[in-house]
Formats: sequence, C-alpha cells, structure tokens
Amino acid sequence: MQFVLASHNKKKLKEMAEILDELGIEVVPLPENAPEPEETGKTFEENAVIKAKSAADFTGLPAIADDSGLCVDALGGAPGIYSARYCEGTDLDRNAFLLKNMQDQNDRACRFVCAIACILPDGQQITVRGECEGELLRESRGAGGFGYDPLFFVPQYGCTFGELPGEAKNQISHRGRALRALKDALKTRI
Ligand code: IMP
Repeated sequence: MQFVLASHNKKKLKEMAEILDELGIEVVPLPENAPEPEETGKTFEENAVIKAKSAADFTGLPAIADDSGLCVDALGGAPGIYSARYCEGTDLDRNAFLLKNMQDQNDRACRFVCAIACILPDGQQITVRGECEGELLRESRGAGGFGYDPLFFVPQYGCTFGELPGEAKNQISHRGRALRALKDALKTRI
C-alpha cells in the first residue's frame, strides 16, 4: 500500500521508508507541483494534519506528514512551532538568535517535539507525538545534523545532537520516537 509523504525532504523519506517498509507500506514523495499549505495551526499536531490533508487531497493517496521544533522552557516553549522561521536567515542565524534570547537564563531545559499525522485510506486521521529532552548549551558543539542540533545537549549521551552519528540520534530523537509510535498505531489500523 502506498502512502505519500508530505515533504520534499529525501532524508525524511528514507527514514520513514525504512521503518514503515516492515508494515508493507511504500512511502512515495510528494509531487514537485503539489501546493505548500500555510501552517496556520497552533500546535505541532494541527500543522502536521494540515500538511497531511493537503497531500492526500492533491494525490488521492493516504498521506503522512510531520511537524517538529524545539521548545525551550525558559522562553515559554518558544521557538516551538515557529522553529523553522524563528528569525530570517540561516540555521546559524537562528541559533545565534536563540542564544541571545537565552543569555540571561540559567534554566536551560528544552525538548525537541515531533508530531506525525496520517490520513488513512478510509479518510480517518491519526496523530502521534515523540519528544526528546535535553539542555540548551551556551555555544555550539559538533558539525553534524541540522537546525538546532549543535546546541542541543543530551545528558544521557554526554554530547549534542550535532556530535552524534545519525543512527544514534534516530534511536532517541523526537522524530525516531514519533515514527515508532506511528508504526505501532498503524499496525492495528491497516
Ligand atoms: P518542520 O520541517 O516544519 O517540521 O520544521 C522543523 C524545524 O524545527 C527545523 O527547521 C529546525 O529548525 C527544527 N528542528 C526540528 N527537528 C530538528 C532536529 O532534529 N534537529 C535540529 N533542529 C530541528
């Protein structure tokens, strides 16, 4: 059975394909000419559903979409759903902006959150969530990963996401956890 992934990100497609293959699900990429819906939701789940519905409507296939971000306690959960657009510029600019906003804060607790929405062949929808707890460093460490990875320290591993090999990150990451929760949820639904 085919599901379309509401993303053009090849890495996400590969990660999902590997996990969902065991359920007999083939994940196919979103066509290049698909519309990009506005992410008007107030939660990760709402935005994931908006993206999944849009992809299902466009392709006529069941669909999967994710929405993720970094939530920092001392900033009341910011950047949260606005993580990708926290400020103009590159990942480096956003990391610098976050560090500036956190410079007087001693509470460094934060978590990555990932919600995945799935529109099933019968039109029903499910959402799942994965989280990963960490601490925001005061300077970047590691050149791996993307986004806020070099600032996200995982006490359990004693290093940042930017210093971890991809495999190790997938074991504990918000996205890995959400994907495994999706797999469990789909087992009983398809
Ligand atoms: P999305 O693609 O709309 O879900 O946006 C996710 C944004 O959240 C990215 O652009 C990053 O800024 C941030 N983010 C989400 N997951 C990660 C991660 O695993 N590492 C680093 N940054 C992440």
